Amino acid sequence: MNQLSSDENITATLAHLAKALKTPTIGRVWQQLGDTARDQGWSHEQYLAAVLQRQVADREANGTTMRMNSARFPARKTLEDFNPDYQPNLRRDVLAHLATTNFIPTADNVILLGPPGVGKTHLAIGLGIKACQSGYPVLFDTAAGWVTRLSEAHQHHGGLDKELKRLRRYKLLVIDELGYIPFDADAANLFFQLVASRYEQGSLLITSNLAFSRWGEIFTDDVVAAAMIDRLVHHAEVISLDGDSYRTRTRRELLKSKTTNQE
Ligand code: ADP
Ligand code: MG
Repeated sequence: MNQLSSDENITATLAHLAKALKTPTIGRVWQQLGDTARDQGWSHEQYLAAVLQRQVADREANGTTMRMNSARFPARKTLEDFNPDYQPNLRRDVLAHLATTNFIPTADNVILLGPPGVGKTHLAIGLGIKACQSGYPVLFDTAAGWVTRLSEAHQHHGGLDKELKRLRRYKLLVIDELGYIPFDADAANLFFQLVASRYEQGSLLITSNLAFSRWGEIFTDDVVAAAMIDRLVHHAEVISLDGDSYRTRTRRELLKSKTTNQE
């Protein structure tokens, strides 16, 4: 301990130790928190807890930022910004349950169905962000984007299996806008393989403008569609959103308030 007795030595030693432990936050905060501890009369244990807490909080925040950047969300839409009053049929307890992300470790799926503009993509991103915050790696793309990705992998021998295996590291895959563009037989087959490879292995969150009864139109084959739906809904929360498009509704309300103001 003698070596540590001077302030200078302690500073150098702690800088060295924080570096060796790869805990830069500790290197940054120990001194200031030490002053606070003396001012407030913290015990040694309280001081240690405060220092470690700052390091853990920073590490978690960095992990979340990293996961959110690599998830490729098309926009930042949070669940907190989603106004459930516009979706009176959406059960809030179901939404709250999904927000816990507890469906991810059990590899359950989420299917959001409804017409354009009702908030499917917004909810998909919001839930994806929650997953990132809970520590789960997430990858977001449109259905067409996923098919492109899989068909590129498929062009190399054994590439599809490799890609599907690689995707296992993502605990949640978001597939947005299934149904906007119908798939040809090859695309439908690739998509089926993606769904089959995730079955009871990892979660899928799918949004679609088409009800299940019309998925045959996407895959140009009712049998393939039925087999897919079977696997998807076996462990899934299926949510139907309805109502007017939020986009046109807000525009309409804006226009209404403008005309009212002019009266
Ligand atoms: P969809 O994917 O169903 O076509 P989006 O999620 O893209 O619809 O929603 C369209 C726009 O309206 C987005 O800007 C979205 O943030 C917003 N929006 C939709 N529903 C809500 C809501 N309930 N609360 C807040 N914003 C909403
Ligand atoms: Mg959308």
